Amino acid sequence: MNIVRKTFPVGPLQCNCTIIGDTETGVGYVFDPGGDASRIMATVESMGLKIIGIIHTHAHLDHILAAGEIQSRTAAPIWVHRSDMFLWDTVEMQCRMFGVPYTPVPDPDHWIEDEQELECGGSCIHTPGHTPGSTSFYFEDSRLLIAGDTLFQGSIGRTDFEGGDAGLLVKSIQQRIYKLDESATVITGHGPETTIGQEMRFNAFVRA
Ligand SMILES: [Zn+2]
Ligand SMILES: [Zn+2]
Repeated sequence: MNIVRKTFPVGPLQCNCTIIGDTETGVGYVFDPGGDASRIMATVESMGLKIIGIIHTHAHLDHILAAGEIQSRTAAPIWVHRSDMFLWDTVEMQCRMFGVPYTPVPDPDHWIEDEQELECGGSCIHTPGHTPGSTSFYFEDSRLLIAGDTLFQGSIGRTDFEGGDAGLLVKSIQQRIYKLDESATVITGHGPETTIGQEMRFNAFVRA
C-alpha cells in the first residue's frame, strides 16, 4: 500500500472533503463531497485515482451536495448510513433552512455497516450523536480518522438538529474514537485537523 490523501474545504459551508487512495492499486474514495465538484474531480485526476466509493460521514446538506455530480463523473456507488436517510430525503428542505442553493442528490447505492472494511486499510465506525447515522472512517496503518461533524479541534458536533443526541455523541467519542491510536490525525468536518490524543487531553466537552 502507498496511501495518498488530500483534504480541502468545499461548498457553501466549507465542509472538509477528503480524497484518499492507494497509488499501488490505483483506487480511492471521495469522502464528503459537499460542493465544488470540479475541484474535487481535478484533485482526483491529479492523484491518478479511480474512485470506487463516494462516502458520507452523515447526510447534512453541506456534506452531500456534490454527490450526484461526482457519481456522474466516476460511476462510483454512493455510501451513507441508513439511519441518516430521513436527512438525505429532505436535503431540499435543509437547503432552504440554510439559504443554500438546492442541488438534487441521487439515491444512495450502499448502506454503511459498523466495522465494515474499506480498501486502503480503512474501516467504518458508527459514531451516532450528531446525527443517528454519523459514521467515522479509520485508516489504521495511516493513523488517520475522518470524523465528520462528530469531533472538532477543541469541540464536538452540535446535537440540536433533528435526530441529534448529546448523550450518544459523548458515548461515541469516548467508547469508539478515544479507543483508537492517540497519535492518529483527526480530519474534522470543518476547520483544522487535530489528533485523538490532543482531544483526549484538552477537549473542553469530552475528555478521555
Ligand atoms: Zn453535520
Ligand atoms: Zn457539517
